[in-house]
Amino acid sequence: MIRFNKPSITEKERNNVLEAMSDDHILSGDGKFTMKVYRQFEERFGIKNMLLTTSGTTALEMASILIDLEPEDEVITPSFTFSSTVNAFLLRGAKPVFCDIREDTFNIDEAKIEALITPKTKAIYAVDYAGFPCEMDTINEIAERHGIFVIEDAAQAVGSTYKGRYAGTLTEFGCYSFHETKNYVMGEGGGIVVNEEKYMERAEIIREKGTNRRNVLRGLVDKYTWHDIGSSFLPSDMLAAILSAQMDRYDEILEKRMNIWNIYYHKLKELEEKELLRRPVLPEGIKHNAHMFCIVLPSEDIRTDLINRLREKEIASYICYVPLHSAPYGLKLGYTPEMLPITEDLGKRILRLPLYADMTSEDAHTVVEAIAEILTDKE
Ligand SMILES: *Cc1c(COP(=O)(O)O)cnc(C)c1O
Repeated sequence: MIRFNKPSITEKERNNVLEAMSDDHILSGDGKFTMKVYRQFEERFGIKNMLLTTSGTTALEMASILIDLEPEDEVITPSFTFSSTVNAFLLRGAKPVFCDIREDTFNIDEAKIEALITPKTKAIYAVDYAGFPCEMDTINEIAERHGIFVIEDAAQAVGSTYKGRYAGTLTEFGCYSFHETKNYVMGEGGGIVVNEEKYMERAEIIREKGTNRRNVLRGLVDKYTWHDIGSSFLPSDMLAAILSAQMDRYDEILEKRMNIWNIYYHKLKELEEKELLRRPVLPEGIKHNAHMFCIVLPSEDIRTDLINRLREKEIASYICYVPLHSAPYGLKLGYTPEMLPITEDLGKRILRLPLYADMTSEDAHTVVEAIAEILTDKE
């Protein structure tokens, strides 16, 4: 069976976890490995203010608290994303205003954002789909003109760049995921990048159940108290130990993923020329992180058939995603499938192929050959 996904865990991760459990370590949050992760993100991406969270989901929830979303506020966001992007602000009572996506990158179509802005619009939640950053200069410019926030859901985009700048650093707040299905993992976990210093103090408080406990750890105060709303958003240092090992292996993991991605890209060219599928588009100014490889099939029926026949050949593939506006809860909220024609169409035709660091080149070739065989089978 060629699996869809598998985290790459070595002795390094295992040893770190054992060390995190040793006598002189704290098991709760903000221990030695958490601090090491911050240094690693600073050295690699120049990120000064980042806070590890229990998930990408809770990083988005923290961002939603930090921008003071209130009931009746509107948030512009793509529907072609994971539920967490939208739940994060629904939990604050804000309302999603779904924006259609671009045909090429599957990211929010920046040209369609402005028409959706009303006096109630408070923010844009932009998602870097498949690790390809959105057209952020345009999105930031629109937001600035209207005085609204931009949150970057960079859950899939750790290490990708847009015009030389790292995903997660492109707006006020960037949210990463280190879930086991992402490029760099800690099991369950995430991080919020606070790109404007002025929000950092409050971010630390919100993450620590609304208290200034972090200042006790720093030795700045000797007891901590309640300052704000918040929750328990910080992960155990044992999980940070896994992520720290992954960050030590950053180049190795990226190169291995990129190798698989590039095999798919080059070997599927012929099928694209025969118009049997479409490969990812590589936009100018963007470096992706080989997070996922998606193909677009000519129709939903062809996709369904391909999924089934790949499964018969013991190859896992995955649709990603069912658009939120036409998912059961989206319909319940009053959205209808026709509202976002491009999202609706692409949502039925995109297929994600197996991709993980420890996947062999041989397996990638097997997947390509299976797809070629199935799609060119005329019976
Ligand atoms: C994975 C993902 C999330 C959620 O991250 P978790 O760490 O699983 O909570 C949010 N948004 C997008 C786009 C994702 O891919």
